[in-house]
Amino acid sequence: MINVTDSFVGHVLNIYLARATDREVLNTKVASGGAVTAILNYALDEGIIDGVVTAKRTNGLEGKAVVARSRKELLATVGNKWSIVPFASRIKTKIEENNLNQVAVVCLPCQAQFFGQMRDFPMLETDFGERIEYIISLFCMGTFAFETFINYLYLNHGIKGRDVRDVSIKGNIIEVYHPGGVLKLPIGEIYRYLQVGCLVCTDYTGSWSDISAGVIETKPGWTILLARNKKADELIKNAKKRGYIEVRDGSSFIGEVINGAREKLARAQRNMMCMF
Ligand code: SF4
Repeated sequence: MINVTDSFVGHVLNIYLARATDREVLNTKVASGGAVTAILNYALDEGIIDGVVTAKRTNGLEGKAVVARSRKELLATVGNKWSIVPFASRIKTKIEENNLNQVAVVCLPCQAQFFGQMRDFPMLETDFGERIEYIISLFCMGTFAFETFINYLYLNHGIKGRDVRDVSIKGNIIEVYHPGGVLKLPIGEIYRYLQVGCLVCTDYTGSWSDISAGVIETKPGWTILLARNKKADELIKNAKKRGYIEVRDGSSFIGEVINGAREKLARAQRNMMCMF
């Protein structure tokens, strides 16, 4: 029998609420608790991994793939990226250029699927997949069709793309931070500016990952972590033991994650019916 967790968010071994103990990490990751950054700090400090491939916001909403090898470099990558960063195509080069042998990849669910398949079922003669130690996927409801969203912001609200400092979701409101303040937009209004592919994407949490991480409305300031296998579970537990994160049982919050997953699946089904 498939249980409700498996059918909506994939296989999950343990569910935690976690947050960083490091004040600097907490201050830069106020909304999410910074648990992913703290766990990766621990893995770098202990030599469990030699680099983290992740996305860094560069200009407004734009981002690029970067390698972080230290706490300082990791902290420089925090913040939401709302345009998809095409790093699946660049990761092999990044890993080789930086001579990395054990990397953690922080990515979106669609990218987690690519990396998971490369690692577990390599199709090419390459050692690229073998070098991926951990895949950490962030919950995702979609990324913007960049140019279109930027045009919308400028034409309707006079905000230039390069001036966008951050974007975050609070309930059904998207907040766009810019030099003049915070623009609050109902989520329904900006759905039309998401990538078309996102509108038919069914994976909210990244079921191909080792750890899925995200935020839930009822626990701001905490990261909810889904450990999908024993190795991932041990990483979280050891980061706690070494004092990098504080952890609570998160199983009673899985309903909120399933709601997000169900909503995304229903959206995809509705959109697929319209498209085909
Ligand atoms: S909604 Fe799906 S396709 Fe779009 S960025 Fe997120 S995971 Fe990728």
